[in-house]
Amino acid sequence: MANPYDFVPIAEVKRGHILTTHGQFNNNLLSGYIQCALTVISPLCIKSLFVNPGEQDIYLPGSSLKGMIRTVMETLYGGCGFNIEKDYYYKKTIKPNGKRKEHVVKYFVNNCKYPDGKYEDSKYISCDKHIDAIYKLLEREEKVKARIMDYSLCPVCSLFGITTEPGLSFAGRLSFEDTETQKVHLEKYCIPQPDTPRVYRRSFYFKNPGVLPSPGIKKGEPTIKTFEGGEYNGRKFYLHSKNGKVYTAEKQNDSDRDPVTVFAAPINTSFAFKLHFKNLSEYELGSLLFALDNSKNRVYNKLGYGKPVGMGSAKITVNTVKTLGALMYKRFECAVKHDDYNFLQCLENYIESSKILETTQYKKLVNIWGMQGKELSYPDIKFFGNENNANTTIGQFNSGNYGKKKEYVVRKPKQPKKNLFVINKKEKNEHPVYEIGKEVKGVVFSIEGLSGIVTLKTGENVSFERVNEYIPVRSGQKASFRIVKLTKDGKILHLAFKKGK
Ligand SMILES: [Zn+2]
Repeated sequence: MANPYDFVPIAEVKRGHILTTHGQFNNNLLSGYIQCALTVISPLCIKSLFVNPGEQDIYLPGSSLKGMIRTVMETLYGGCGFNIEKDYYYKKTIKPNGKRKEHVVKYFVNNCKYPDGKYEDSKYISCDKHIDAIYKLLEREEKVKARIMDYSLCPVCSLFGITTEPGLSFAGRLSFEDTETQKVHLEKYCIPQPDTPRVYRRSFYFKNPGVLPSPGIKKGEPTIKTFEGGEYNGRKFYLHSKNGKVYTAEKQNDSDRDPVTVFAAPINTSFAFKLHFKNLSEYELGSLLFALDNSKNRVYNKLGYGKPVGMGSAKITVNTVKTLGALMYKRFECAVKHDDYNFLQCLENYIESSKILETTQYKKLVNIWGMQGKELSYPDIKFFGNENNANTTIGQFNSGNYGKKKEYVVRKPKQPKKNLFVINKKEKNEHPVYEIGKEVKGVVFSIEGLSGIVTLKTGENVSFERVNEYIPVRSGQKASFRIVKLTKDGKILHLAFKKGK
């Protein structure tokens, strides 16, 4: 059993200036379109469009596809816009008999930290707030002249566009068409109502949940102030369910709400869609292609309603990329000749130059999305009501390794450790020489199914795989790994888990 969601650590936002806006074509940059296909891996529901059962003409809106890809790119490429369920608050209901009925909770963004240990005024803020802050300092004449190109944007706003308060909007350089309409037989599902995250689940959302008082179920009256110092685990993603299974309302014991009836496109339904790009560098196009199609690495996406119960797994494949021919017909775009573009080469160049496969964010996303699927199940209120489980992490829950020893529920916030090992000065200066087949030691950072992430002595996070699901391994465990793959410059790219220490 695995908890249905997990987190990808937030990357620092990298902002830069855009070279050109979408207004004119630039001969030195790439413009054209990408032809893709989306295949349904687990029942897919766009709630506002799929309203009747049986045979229906349906399509997926371009805005949904755009949102889905934007999220992936924000996560992988240091995009802005991270926030964790804004406007959280406590809702306390005391029954006439004095018993507490519910403790729904929301976390105020201001009271929790980003990975650099800062609050919202850090470099992690969204681009619109970043621009607002600079704009406010300008003199009146300067404000009139201000253009979006004078400001630095994150790589995602720079592609997808941004609307800021001073009206410096920029429509972006990508546009997603709706998919082609399909005749699809929609299936009916009865699923539990989505719920808001509760205070007792905070150990799943924060790295240091212990700064908060008790789980709020038994004793204590936690206030918003007590959340100060909490550090986000990252962006939330839902896992794929085993065999595309949907967990229907009857099977959830955690929900006391009325179930919801939804209609979904069945597994293997396929939709064709097109997205247009304008004035992209080869690197930017490569980053887009990489975020779109990771099906070769068995990384699927999630779209639509019912993600926590296993719905909405989708595989995206890029089929062709066409770029504008050398001849420009500026006024008659439709008459422009499109050439086939070698997108596989572009993708390869991007992977090589960006080193994206080695980032913590990519490895963690693969860990969540890249597996065959798991049996999903939320731990229930009794689980968190047990004080011994108050600080249980998702990794511990998924590996079944929790609640064995009592932890102090109240403790001081600790500085997050960057490295689980102490690095000797000697080792720091020398880059270790790795060889395929040789053994390295590390501490398991997280494990999902057959794949996981290990933190090495050097502080690097590297993905690993184990051959057998029944070999016990848990987060925080020290273990030995065999080197399976190295990068061209001799760094470890992939490891295999070895049993024992
Ligand atoms: Zn941004």
